Formats: sequence, C-alpha cells, structure tokens
Amino acid sequence: MLERVVEDTAVNLLKLAATQLPSDVKEALTGARGLEGSEIAKGQLDAILANIELAERTSTPMCQDTGIIIFYLTVGAEFPILSEIASVLSKATKRATKEIPLRPNTVHPFTERNSGDNTGDYVPDINWEIVEGDTLKITAFPKGGGSENVCTLGMLKPGLGIKGVKKFILDTVISAGGKPCPPIILGIGIGGGSDIAMKLAKKALLRPMSRHHRNPEIAELEEEILKLANQTGIGPMGLGGDTTVLKVNVEYAHRHPASMPVGVAFQCWAARKASAEIWPDGRVEYLTDEAKR
Ligand code: SF4
Repeated sequence: MLERVVEDTAVNLLKLAATQLPSDVKEALTGARGLEGSEIAKGQLDAILANIELAERTSTPMCQDTGIIIFYLTVGAEFPILSEIASVLSKATKRATKEIPLRPNTVHPFTERNSGDNTGDYVPDINWEIVEGDTLKITAFPKGGGSENVCTLGMLKPGLGIKGVKKFILDTVISAGGKPCPPIILGIGIGGGSDIAMKLAKKALLRPMSRHHRNPEIAELEEEILKLANQTGIGPMGLGGDTTVLKVNVEYAHRHPASMPVGVAFQCWAARKASAEIWPDGRVEYLTDEAKR
C-alpha cells in the first residue's frame, strides 16, 4: 500500500536525518577545521566531528535535541493519496520517536504537557509545494531549538537600503552569539511580507552547501555576509575562533514599497535533513546526491 511506503520512507528519513549529517555539511565542517586558527575552536570542531562520526557508526541521534519536526514536500498533482499524506507523516513522526528513538520534544504552549511523540497542533510542520507530475519528494528537517530561539524577523525601513539590511543581519548574528550552536548556516529571506520573509529564510537552510543563489549579485551578497559574519570571532560553540558561519543562503521576494521584511533563520552545526522521492508504484529513491535535492 502506498500509504505504508510513504510512512516507512518518512520514518527512514527521520532516522537518516537524526543520525547522519549530509556529506556536504560534514565536508564544510572538516574544511573549516583545517582553516581554523584558534586552538579552542579546533578542539570544539574536533569534538563536533567526533560526535558526528560516533552518531553515524552507532546509528544514534547526533544531538539530544530532537528539534521540532518539519517536512518539506514537493508533490505532483497526480500523486495518489494526496489527502492522506498529512496524517501519514504524523503517524511516521510518532513511529520514529519510538523506533529511533527520539527525545519527545513537543509540549503544549501553555500547560507544557509533553505529547510524548513529537506531534501536536501544527506539528509536524508540513510545507507543501504542488507541481506537475505524479511523484512525491519528501525532505525531513528536524529543526533544533537552540538555533530556532534566535531566528529573527526585522521589518526594516526600505530607505535603509541594502546597507541597512546587512547591518540588521550582522547585528542579529552578533546578538545570537553562541546560542545557536555555531558553526551555523544562515538563511536570509528578504522581501515579501513578514511571513514570506521567515518562510524563505528557513527554506534557504535546505540549500546544498555548494550552491549559491542563481543571481550572481545575490551570490556575491551571500559571500560578503559570510565574510563579515566570520569576522565577529564568535567561533564554534561561541568560544571564539574564525568559524562562526559555514554558509549564507539568501532568497528574496517582491515586497510592498513601504516594507522591507528581513528574516534571519539560524541552523546549528547539526544541520539535519534527508530527502527521498516516491513514485505511485511504490518505488523509492533516497536523494543522498546533493545535486538531486
Ligand atoms: S541547536 Fe542544534 S546542536 Fe544545539 S542543542 Fe539544538 S539541535 Fe543540538
């Protein structure tokens, strides 16, 4: 049954994400270790890399913080069982919590009662993109709380221009300091409205490490922000060093002339994500090759 295939795939993706860091992120961390000048920072990066290796070898989560479970879906309009997908993903989250196991992380906002299975109202968070075709692509994205706590939205005055946007981003990185468990990936969403800017910022965190924005001027902006952010000296886990940010990914949307929303999303070093594509006949391909993600 296709429902069962989707459920099993989502459980596998949550396990893959929790236990195996994508190879491009590992390479970025290893590369940063080679360039790092501070002894304390080298020690922190060594500990992070050893932790990643141990998690992979023992198939256990690389961090105790399960995060909040997010799924990004690209669904062909012809994919069967469209109306079942949300409940199947919720079921998969409950199963993954038991089977991996994952720390139950989802609490009621007022009573703080833990649901015990990483689901609840609006959780898992499911982001839909409906496209032509008949396949379903799922990306599982458990988002850690430390890095989530410092995500920030600024509704800037458009007159501040790109200089003001850069200042806001850097001020946000400096005020976050070590809280998001650096080295981080920064997702920036510029324009749209308040919700669009934050959605773009968070989705930008999924971009493969080797890929820059398609517009060369935006790609240049990404490199400039990366360089400036690494001059802050915050360093791995906030203990000082050259490696604060591994990558900056900017996305933009057209905006109201009177608004300049800027969303800044932080992703900790545990940049967990895993993707797969499912066909209506039950065939599944795990997208470990970053070009396919
Ligand atoms: S922010 Fe990331 S690295 Fe830090 S505790 Fe949460 S999941 Fe772990």
